Amino acid sequence: MELDELYQDIILDHYKNPHNFGEGEASCTNVELDNPVCGDHIKLMLLIDENDIIQDVKFTGSGCAISMASASIMTEEIKGKKVQEVRAIIEDVLGAMRGEKEADNLDEHGDLIALKGVMKFPVRVKCATLAWHAVRDGITKCEQEKK
Ligand code: ZN
Repeated sequence: MELDELYQDIILDHYKNPHNFGEGEASCTNVELDNPVCGDHIKLMLLIDENDIIQDVKFTGSGCAISMASASIMTEEIKGKKVQEVRAIIEDVLGAMRGEKEADNLDEHGDLIALKGVMKFPVRVKCATLAWHAVRDGITKCEQEKK
């Protein structure tokens, strides 16, 4: 199987059966972000416990396959992890998508590897990064509201 096909299969799988899709409990104000270029919209609900572990994450929204699949992959990747670790992953993803970081950093993170297939299409990068900007904003909001 060609690598591009593999990436495409992962994206379509998540698009058809998004993980963690729906309304969920949140420990801080929900983040809503749009990508007007494509019409993607995402709402993110983050539940972070007192030990700074992401207990739960849910999203709703609508948009293209890449935006929805990226959100699904993101929730799978961050759930159960510490905020500090998640921040590092977010920077790896956003850095790679901007072409500033080694994209091979994504290889060890399961389905995250599929986002590498998007990097070849600059117009779609905003679709892929929407969910990652949302979770970065969400973590910041949760930390600010805790104080
Ligand atoms: Zn899109």
